[in-house]
Amino acid sequence: MGKYMHKGSCLCGAVEYEITGPLDRILLCHCSRCRKANGSAFSAVSPVAASDFRIIKGQEFLRSYSTDAGVHRIFCGTCGSPIVSKRDNMPETVRLRIGTLDTPLDTGISAHIFVGSKAEWYEILDGHTQYAERPHPG
Ligand SMILES: [Zn+2]
Ligand SMILES: [Zn+2]
Repeated sequence: MGKYMHKGSCLCGAVEYEITGPLDRILLCHCSRCRKANGSAFSAVSPVAASDFRIIKGQEFLRSYSTDAGVHRIFCGTCGSPIVSKRDNMPETVRLRIGTLDTPLDTGISAHIFVGSKAEWYEILDGHTQYAERPHPG
């Protein structure tokens, strides 16, 4: 096992992962796909270098929901916890669902993204930057 900076796991504990790099920013994604995938108003995501992310337990429990757009949402097949998403056009990055972290994280929220498609019942009351879609193409 390497020297990790963060560790996390799914709800049932079957899947565990470690991260050997920093989590630089937190994005709250309000898009309709994240709302469906999480059953919530938004997903809390942090981009991580794929080379810094490692499943250390329960690889066999992971399932993937893939779209035609080449987005793969990877989750625990037993309890349904979302773990990461990956994009075919950005193989060097995974987008970690930080609600699954077990280690403390002192990174602040960077921005709300896909605010243009947020749930109408959820009102954003903080002062963080809001983007209608994503801050940078891709
Ligand atoms: Zn699980
Ligand atoms: Zn989203």
